[in-house]
Amino acid sequence: MHSLITTDGKSYAPRRVFCIGRNYRKHARELGNEPPAEPVIFLKPPTSLVPPDSTIPLPVHGDDPQFEAELVLLLDGEGRVLDEEGAWEYVAGLSLGLDLTLRDVQSRLKRAGLPWELAKAFDHSAAVGRFTPLAAAGNPNEITFSCRINGETRQTGRVREMIFTIPQLLVAISRAWTLSPGDLVYTGTPDGVGSLRSGDSIEVSSDTLGAFTWKIR
Ligand code: ZN
Repeated sequence: MHSLITTDGKSYAPRRVFCIGRNYRKHARELGNEPPAEPVIFLKPPTSLVPPDSTIPLPVHGDDPQFEAELVLLLDGEGRVLDEEGAWEYVAGLSLGLDLTLRDVQSRLKRAGLPWELAKAFDHSAAVGRFTPLAAAGNPNEITFSCRINGETRQTGRVREMIFTIPQLLVAISRAWTLSPGDLVYTGTPDGVGSLRSGDSIEVSSDTLGAFTWKIR
């Protein structure tokens, strides 16, 4: 497993990968879901992480691997976020990543009311870029990020359009889990998700956080 290194040189061991589902209205609708009344939270193991500028093998246990570009938080600090005011003290850095999803498997599991791990938490399902320290990332609410597949823009995400803000997400996660250094939070994907095939190249980028690429094998 690779360590998570911020652009100012601090190193973190990845602990847990929290992921938020349905945090942008148009994306919830494109998959036939209503915007949720409270955050949808699931986890991937840290062994699912893939470093930037590397190759991702497609999973073999499903037919429709899809990209979901997301803003990713790197947490520092041990404890629970009790109110939104204190939330940013737990955020060490920001990056962009991919919550890779086997959509056909997820649809089947959703219909059967079963857990999502087979669709979401497999090896190489969590691509993540390098982290910009929070202080160097500008106003997080102004971040716009995009996802290009083979050079074509497919997703544009604006942090201010999230249904649940970053402080609200950290409060919600803290109700069940004590946060610890090296935890990651994938904050949900905007609309425009789509299928991947062997040979695709993926780039996620923003003005303040940089550009990261992955190749699908
Ligand atoms: Zn996602």
